[in-house]
Amino acid sequence: EATTAATTVHLTVNSPEQMRELGRGLAKLLRPGDLVMLTGELGAGKTTLTRGLGEGLDVRGAVTSPTFVIARVHPALGDGPPLVHVDAYRLGGGLDEMEDLDLDVSLPDSVIVVEWGEGKVEELSDDRLQVVIHRATGDTDDDVRQVHLTGLGARWRNADLAALAA
Ligand code: ADP
Ligand code: MG
Repeated sequence: EATTAATTVHLTVNSPEQMRELGRGLAKLLRPGDLVMLTGELGAGKTTLTRGLGEGLDVRGAVTSPTFVIARVHPALGDGPPLVHVDAYRLGGGLDEMEDLDLDVSLPDSVIVVEWGEGKVEELSDDRLQVVIHRATGDTDDDVRQVHLTGLGARWRNADLAALAA
């Protein structure tokens, strides 16, 4: 079930499997050059969602928490865009520092997914899909998550985010 206000869609996700499914669905909407920013506390499910995105984009390698790297490139197995998965938590200097990483990939041709990117990578694009994930209750054993998707900029104005609720 979902309610839509402009380009914001609110979803309830009941399990890690459903979060991956949401990622796979979201992947169908993504195009080269897209920037997805994931917000949510540790354990909210940002990496789990990204894992589903990687499955949907059909990229090489399982998406994991990039503990020792700031960014990991997952090349596409087919004709689609590669996935660049960024954990900006330790990206103190923001975008400049990310460009210094010398990722062997063209960012405008990639789908970029950033965890912990607030205040750091917005300048990559005015067009962004912001995904906020909350635990539904204060109970950390509770698998229910609230997911809020907001499409910013012309890129997302007519995107059918509500279709993700299906
Ligand atoms: P983050 O990247 O936000 O820190 P992770 O995706 O790495 O979070 O971890 C989320 C943890 O919560 C995983 O252990 C996952 O199995 C668990 N989990 C429980 N319910 C959900 C859910 N509905 N969606 C996503 N993850 C969930
Ligand atoms: Mg994570």
